[in-house]
Amino acid sequence: MGLLVGDGIGHEIVPATRGVVDTAVAAAGEAPIDWVTLPIGLDAIAEHGTPIPDVTLDALAGLDGWVLGPHDSAAYPEEFRGLLTPGGTIRKRFDLFANVRPAQAFSGVRAVVPDMDLVIVRENTEGFYADRNMHTGSGEFMPTPDVALAVAVFTRRACERIAQTACDLAARRRGRVTVVHKANVLTLTTGLFRDVCVEVAEGFPGVRVDTEHVDAMAAHLVRRGGDFDVVVTENMFGDILSDLAGELSGSLGTAPSLNASHTQAMAQAAHGAAPDIAGRNRANPTALMLSAAMLLDWLAARQGRDGLARAAGRIRRAIEQTLAAGVATADLGGLASTAEFTETVGARILRR
Ligand code: ATP
Ligand code: MG
Repeated sequence: MGLLVGDGIGHEIVPATRGVVDTAVAAAGEAPIDWVTLPIGLDAIAEHGTPIPDVTLDALAGLDGWVLGPHDSAAYPEEFRGLLTPGGTIRKRFDLFANVRPAQAFSGVRAVVPDMDLVIVRENTEGFYADRNMHTGSGEFMPTPDVALAVAVFTRRACERIAQTACDLAARRRGRVTVVHKANVLTLTTGLFRDVCVEVAEGFPGVRVDTEHVDAMAAHLVRRGGDFDVVVTENMFGDILSDLAGELSGSLGTAPSLNASHTQAMAQAAHGAAPDIAGRNRANPTALMLSAAMLLDWLAARQGRDGLARAAGRIRRAIEQTLAAGVATADLGGLASTAEFTETVGARILRR
């Protein structure tokens, strides 16, 4: 499994996550993970002259899964700013088209919507963030200095594969998919997205599908966010709604994500490198640990290795119990350091 430390608090939360994964995998009776540490971010600039060197991309091509720490691209030298971030480069290179972002409230963590337990499945390659899909570079352009245009791309193939991912997931959860669009205004683009998703969902007899406009959905999430199971949407809507849902269910420090194609997956916390608290043993490793658990589940399903799924379950339960017991880092109002929180999670993994 690949390990990319990244910048800022990555130096704390990535080793913490690795330790917890190793403990859980051993406790589940699985063979130890073979970690492959790869350079990225500021360390890679110092060593290789670029934040995302070819040695890293070449090695990732041969891996099923990896854990990516956060990157602080604002701290990179001038020449690397305005380029695709290291995470963006990896997503694009390996066509990680599904960004899966759970928003789940934890007992012990204050939440605006305490019964929220949903997963946003965000299309990650096209829509209004079309530059990721266009070989010419940016999807935005200015025909004159006073007019700026942006192109959105929606293809049947991309809508189909993200709908499939969402329905597969819903079939393993509570069997409900909500398709989020804006077809009253963006009729051709998000209308195609909506129609293809509904069509795909019809092939899943156990899955009930409904549709919502994105503006109404924002309101529903605040008022009755506990009613949703799997929410599938296009790139930009998913970007915005997943931040909203993450915050309503808890905090940035607990929001995990998985970026996946059909053959590879990348665990990545929803938050950034938090340079304001880096190096102070204060960072919350929960989001990355939960992301790593999602990766273990994904690998377990692909490789038929039940032990990896058991390890993922142990990590999740240990984190739930740790937070419920009031052991939390400062961002959640707690007193625990990164190291103390990590130790408690590790001890709870072993207890069961
Ligand atoms: P990016 O552009 O990389 O997403 P950002 O500007 O959104 O970065 P973050 O790095 O996510 O910012 O940090 C936002 C705030 O949340 C900061 O004050 C940071 O300290 C805090 N924060 C983010 N992640 C964590 C964490 N895991 N533990 C504790 N605090 C965090
Ligand atoms: Mg951010």
